[in-house]
Amino acid sequence: MDILDYIATFLYPPRCPLCRHYLPNIGSWCSKCMDSTVQAHVVAIDRWEYQNFNRIWALGRYHGVLRRLIIQLKYGGRKSTLPYLGSFIETAIKNIELPEDIDIVICVPLHQKRLKERGFNQTELIFKKWLAKKHFKCENNLKRIFFTQAQYKLRRQERLKNLQNAFSLKEGMTVSGKNCLLLDDIYTTGATLSACAKVLKRHGAVKIYGLVLATDAE
Ligand SMILES: [Zn+2]
Repeated sequence: MDILDYIATFLYPPRCPLCRHYLPNIGSWCSKCMDSTVQAHVVAIDRWEYQNFNRIWALGRYHGVLRRLIIQLKYGGRKSTLPYLGSFIETAIKNIELPEDIDIVICVPLHQKRLKERGFNQTELIFKKWLAKKHFKCENNLKRIFFTQAQYKLRRQERLKNLQNAFSLKEGMTVSGKNCLLLDDIYTTGATLSACAKVLKRHGAVKIYGLVLATDAE
């Protein structure tokens, strides 16, 4: 544990991230709050997207407490949110049936510039505990070659265009004949996952699944 986190825990004993009740352990939620936040579901994708994806799941919705935790981590660098996000994943993921045939897990990469700015890839951190438990290793087969500006201002078609060729397979990496699970923090229009999936398909990946923490798609 980070020394600052340690001090923070001492000064501010753990509380449920939603209702703020005091709880004995860091990372715990009260069950009522957890239940109301878990909204695991299959993401509805366009028919043509099935060329790229076999299925995409989301564990919750990008609003309320989940949105707050993600924003605190991503833009505030608050790693103290991770135990709460970790226990959320652990609970929520029980509600979906992930396939057994996953060979490779890949986190959507950040551009080097963004990674340097932020200091971490939030998706890797968010799913770290779950991946370790499942004995999955997150492989960084993809790299982001273009620095894309804030996507939220753009419409779906613009996002897709913006992200065309934004990703490539890292040199020496292979996904040929493999089933891949792509992880990301948020699903908005699906443009990012789609761009990654296309690269993997182009390099011979067989099945591609997606899993995101939260979706703010309709
Ligand atoms: Zn609560």
